[in-house]
Amino acid sequence: MSFNLENKRPTVIAGPCSAENRDQVLETARELKKNPNVKYFRAGLWKPRTRPNSFEGVGENGMIWLKEVASEVGLPVMTEVANAEHAELALKAGIDAVWIGARTTVSPFSVQNIADALKGTSVPVMVKNPMHADLGLWLGAIERFSASTKGEVAALHRGFSNYTQQKYRNAPMWELPIGLKAELPDTILFCDPSHICGNTDLLQSVSQKAMDLGMDGLMIETHSNPSNALSDASQQITPDDLVSLINALEIRSSHHKDSVPDRDLSSLRIKMDSIDEQLMELLSGRMEISKLMGEFKKQEGLTVLNLERWKEIVMSRMNWSKELGLSEEFILRVLEQVHKESIRVQTNIMNHGSNSHKD
Ligand code: PEP
Ligand code: MN
Repeated sequence: MSFNLENKRPTVIAGPCSAENRDQVLETARELKKNPNVKYFRAGLWKPRTRPNSFEGVGENGMIWLKEVASEVGLPVMTEVANAEHAELALKAGIDAVWIGARTTVSPFSVQNIADALKGTSVPVMVKNPMHADLGLWLGAIERFSASTKGEVAALHRGFSNYTQQKYRNAPMWELPIGLKAELPDTILFCDPSHICGNTDLLQSVSQKAMDLGMDGLMIETHSNPSNALSDASQQITPDDLVSLINALEIRSSHHKDSVPDRDLSSLRIKMDSIDEQLMELLSGRMEISKLMGEFKKQEGLTVLNLERWKEIVMSRMNWSKELGLSEEFILRVLEQVHKESIRVQTNIMNHGSNSHKD
């Protein structure tokens, strides 16, 4: 069994974030089966929730529903395994493929335990990138599975977590999957726009970008009734919406193994786009803090401008930038512009009590 079942992109893996009950699993799977692009059904049984006291999945009890999807609906099924016990249960049940979640890829010990549990088997494994932007951990996990199992080991790009609230739930940082492809050109690479976006509005553009970078397929969270989903409700779409999303994709060229070059101009442009996107997000995060400071200053009767603080800002940033090899003149100009905008925003708050863009 392979993740690249046909040469027609995109190969799609779809299904709910979590298996919740038999009806939800089977209803979603039956609708997805009508979509010829969908080659695998996904559903999480053990949910790695960041905070306790939220739905943590139905566990082993849901295995029987996944087996029904495979045998009755006729879609191969996959689930996440986060430890050796999950892997053994998945093997025992005859699950068609497994994926390794982002929270597991960060831990070489966990990865090795799962790789040992799957030793010598031919179950295909899809490895999500780790939570943070560390290409070595992602490559390392792929290498551990490749050394242990006989099945296909593929990569799944799901973005990288942010500290502050930003445009994406998990920043795509496209240069990382490109870097992975440069190191392991033969590895099948999928994108998971659902966990990158965290909402449904950006799914189309992220899926398109993945296709434009020559990725092989997409994993998209799909639920028969997304607003009632017990996990990741805001990012799931219905099977009908998945059909529209796939139909609206432009698949610009057929897939070549070397369609994600690492050293040419287009690859440098992708890296630059990604850095600029992060710069914009950082600037927007800085401006949000500036607004909060404006509100505080207003409440406390403080002036917008504090010359001492501004001098400190210039001094410290100039030192940081010198260490980074940036020209002092350039950084001073950037800082002045950023500071000017910050003063404009805070002055608005003082005068109008809001952060509107009117001057
Ligand atoms: C998931 O696929 O539902 C999931 C938990 O993903 P991630 O590991 O990317 O957070
Ligand atoms: Mn999810």
